[in-house]
Amino acid sequence: LALGCHYRIAVAGAKVGLPEVLIGIIPGGGGTQRLPRLIGPRAALDLIVSGRHVPAPEAKSLGILDQVVEGDDLLAGALAFAAGIAEQRPLPRVSAMSERLGEAGKEPDLFEAMRVKIARRARNQSAPQRCIDAVQAAVELPFQKGLAREREIFEALVNADEAKALRYAFFSERKARDIPGVTRDVMTRTVHRVAVIGGGTMGSGIAMALSDAGIPVTLLELSGEALEKAFDRIRTTYAVSVERGSIGAEELSRRMALITPTTEYDALAGSDMVIEAVFEDIQIKHQVFAKLDAVMKAEAILATNTSALDIDAIAAAVSRPESVIGTHFFSPANVMKLLEIVRGARTSPEIIASVLALAKAIGKVGVISGNCDGFTANRSRIPFNTEMNILIEEGATPQQVDKAMVDFGYPMGPFAVADLAGGDIGYAGRKRREAENPHARNLPIADRLVDMGRYGQKTGAGWYRYEAGDRTPVPDPELERIIGELRRELGVNLRSHTDEEILHRILFASVNEACRILEEGIAYRSSDIDAMWMNGFGFPRYRGGLMYWADGIGIEKIHARMRDWVTTLGSHWRPAKLLTELVDSGRSFADL
Ligand code: NAD
Repeated sequence: LALGCHYRIAVAGAKVGLPEVLIGIIPGGGGTQRLPRLIGPRAALDLIVSGRHVPAPEAKSLGILDQVVEGDDLLAGALAFAAGIAEQRPLPRVSAMSERLGEAGKEPDLFEAMRVKIARRARNQSAPQRCIDAVQAAVELPFQKGLAREREIFEALVNADEAKALRYAFFSERKARDIPGVTRDVMTRTVHRVAVIGGGTMGSGIAMALSDAGIPVTLLELSGEALEKAFDRIRTTYAVSVERGSIGAEELSRRMALITPTTEYDALAGSDMVIEAVFEDIQIKHQVFAKLDAVMKAEAILATNTSALDIDAIAAAVSRPESVIGTHFFSPANVMKLLEIVRGARTSPEIIASVLALAKAIGKVGVISGNCDGFTANRSRIPFNTEMNILIEEGATPQQVDKAMVDFGYPMGPFAVADLAGGDIGYAGRKRREAENPHARNLPIADRLVDMGRYGQKTGAGWYRYEAGDRTPVPDPELERIIGELRRELGVNLRSHTDEEILHRILFASVNEACRILEEGIAYRSSDIDAMWMNGFGFPRYRGGLMYWADGIGIEKIHARMRDWVTTLGSHWRPAKLLTELVDSGRSFADL
């Protein structure tokens, strides 16, 4: 509508864009035809294909806006602007502009180059490619014909699977904010300043996530030396952003300045919230929370970033358990969108609502989980990890499994991801679970790699081999030898796997555990699990998340396949009670 007007004007805080591609469609209503006329085909292509919103000053310099109003009185600004052009005739009409379309002629490979770039970035998706087609139509066809072409493309996309899944993804993230027992009138506590305890991998990432959103942070470490290490890590990460051009040098200084180092608990008294990210050890967490209880103000939010420890046990260390909550960030915390918010037995509705509001303020997708070992996200992901290991025992290679998952739409294969994270990271948790749960499946190959010091990228070898200074995974004959040896020790009969079997075994295993999580009421709804998988584990968004995808396959089919696998592969494939109930009653995850 705005592009159909003679002029466009906005306040400085406004953002403009055509984000339709993000829900699997192209801008209808003439957006793809008018924007290239206004700002030239190259800039229009960039905005329409990425769905990026631009801040008002950039929109002005691109030519989308004619004026940015200083202050926030848009009406007064618009009236003054109108008075200024009252005498002007004829008024400009975007549909009649064509000069800038000629710019495409000077860049003959503009559209083709974009197609190649997008083919890599948006694998398996069609909306981004169709955006390019529509802008190309603007350049090559008269205005009315271009509009007709745009409509044609729009209509072909709007009811396709991709757009349906992306719409579902959008609404699943919204729905995640509806929390039973937390009504809209629950007061939230405003968080002006946050304390972070521990500046390791997660603590420094969390500090950055907050400072990126303009929230001042006090970062507490054990020693000056540890603080220095944390600040070096933060500075290096920001320096990479400067190098890539995503932030300026000034912005780096501004963000660094928002983080204050300390080794003294007294320095935390002014913070509205604290996020603990020290070692994963319940004794240490208890000591830290006891100290926090003594210094934090009465209304402060007391959060822990634990991956799996019992939130209620941590809350038991303080005099105000209702203020304790889990804020489970995903690594790297300044990048990954998911914030799994773990509700303890006594966590108050105010605290839950406040952390949900904070998640939104720092650009994260907040999703609630109940309290159990691994919470919802990691607990539902563990069977995925187990199954990919079992596939290797049976004869598949890491390359084959990675390729099947990347073809499905994951940005990286799971073994390449394991090498990136480091095999040592999940090791302690896995050993603990194996010791506690007699049914837990041990992973002999993964264990052997850790025992040999093959942690992944950081040691130059893991599931792949890495050349110094290069992150490209290279298949490793030494790994084949190690696996071969273990297969002989285990006495397995080697067999081959289709890509479909790989995909289905890995994902069905997680669907089954997700059913148990729902049965136990740990997750509120299956769409919450989808929001977690898309934002925490790289599950392709255009497939709508794990459970939405499973519904698409059909749970009856999944159930039948699992029953077969109980016979051929073992009892861990016994379908969860909920899955059987859904099949018996003809329902699906969408009905939950
Ligand atoms: P890390 O070892 O990288 O960092 C821990 C930091 O805490 C260290 O810098 C250490 O000096 C500091 N520390 C230890 N005891 C302290 C104390 N008493 N007071 C102040 N500082 C103290 O560990 P991490 O990977 O950042 O993990 C931190 C927490 O986050 C753990 O609970 C972990 O389970 C959880 N977590 C980790 C990941 C991950 O991928 N690494 C993901 C989600 C959650």
